[in-house]
Amino acid sequence: MDDLTTRARTVPLEAGAGPDNPPCPACSEPLFGWLAEVDRLGAPVRRCESCGLGIVGESAGTEEALAALAQSGDQERARFANRAGLACSLGGAGWAGLEPGVHYLFTVEAARRLVARRDQVVHRRRWVPGPSFALTWQTLLNSVTFGHNVALAALGHGRAAPAEERWQRRIDGLASIVLAIPAAIVAVPLELLGALFRGGGVVDLRFELL
Ligand SMILES: [Zn+2]
Repeated sequence: MDDLTTRARTVPLEAGAGPDNPPCPACSEPLFGWLAEVDRLGAPVRRCESCGLGIVGESAGTEEALAALAQSGDQERARFANRAGLACSLGGAGWAGLEPGVHYLFTVEAARRLVARRDQVVHRRRWVPGPSFALTWQTLLNSVTFGHNVALAALGHGRAAPAEERWQRRIDGLASIVLAIPAAIVAVPLELLGALFRGGGVVDLRFELL
């Protein structure tokens, strides 16, 4: 109980607010509020201060989280947008990993804790350059557009949350074209920096039995 009290004091007041702090399905530490509800996600987002796992809405527990991890690969591998990455830290609610329909937002540590429940360890961790640059690039564009992930979806990757008004969608389209190259020029060194400090945008993990 003392640990919980100490932890609650170390996070921002608004992050610890709310009627309850359910346990993290990966490591059992209490979850705290991270992002308020936005339309494209349909629910507020909580995060674990210990392993970094993020959850949109409610979690049904460890089995559901493991099933979501398996959906990003299979029982032996996973590839996901890294919630502990530099792009997420800088992007916040504009992070491109927060696309419509997403439920669990994984980190390497969260995945490690989860697969330990089925007696596996992470035996290889790899940064995936192409998708990582794309994620950081889209995160930068999200900071200037009304909609979310518009450019990547236009290129056939992932799901967008277009702006509501037609004039906003027009501006988003124009901004995505005009700013595509400047955003790429910023995204490349930013993502390389993240990867250097093990905060790459997209990671690929391989698991093996203990
Ligand atoms: Zn956790």
